[in-house]
Amino acid sequence: MKISERVVLKFPKELVDKPTISTLVRKYDIEFNILQAQVLPQKEGVMVVIFTGEEDIVKQALKDLKNQNVVLQRLKQDITKDEKICTHCGVCIGLCPTNAFYYDKETKKVAFDYEKCITCMLCVKGCMVRAIKIKF
Ligand code: SF4
Ligand code: SF4
Repeated sequence: MKISERVVLKFPKELVDKPTISTLVRKYDIEFNILQAQVLPQKEGVMVVIFTGEEDIVKQALKDLKNQNVVLQRLKQDITKDEKICTHCGVCIGLCPTNAFYYDKETKKVAFDYEKCITCMLCVKGCMVRAIKIKF
């Protein structure tokens, strides 16, 4: 069965400038989509990645990363925006570190890009009308 797994990866200093992900996807024949990547002041790297492929292969690839001392956290929760409740006030845009919430010039409304969300939860409490929900 094909799955998509969203994970936060924390790379130790010695792996930051290595092509760890491209080597991994070649080795296991899986697809990846990097949603976020940044190097922290202490020189560790953090990435939010979606891996897609056959379930057992994706699991093997993630195990491989762990064996390389990459710290891995699966993102199991999803954020949704209830369009019936949202007033398009824009508060969530200012709170979201990844620009998952943005102002859509065409519709003139606040839109949500699920692919960019790293489930940090910063927006949830900021929405006064409770339009942002956590789906487990
Ligand atoms: S803070 Fe809530 S009501 Fe305001 S735009 Fe964001 S989701 Fe909509
Ligand atoms: S959970 Fe975090 S990343 Fe996702 S939309 Fe809210 S503030 Fe943005």
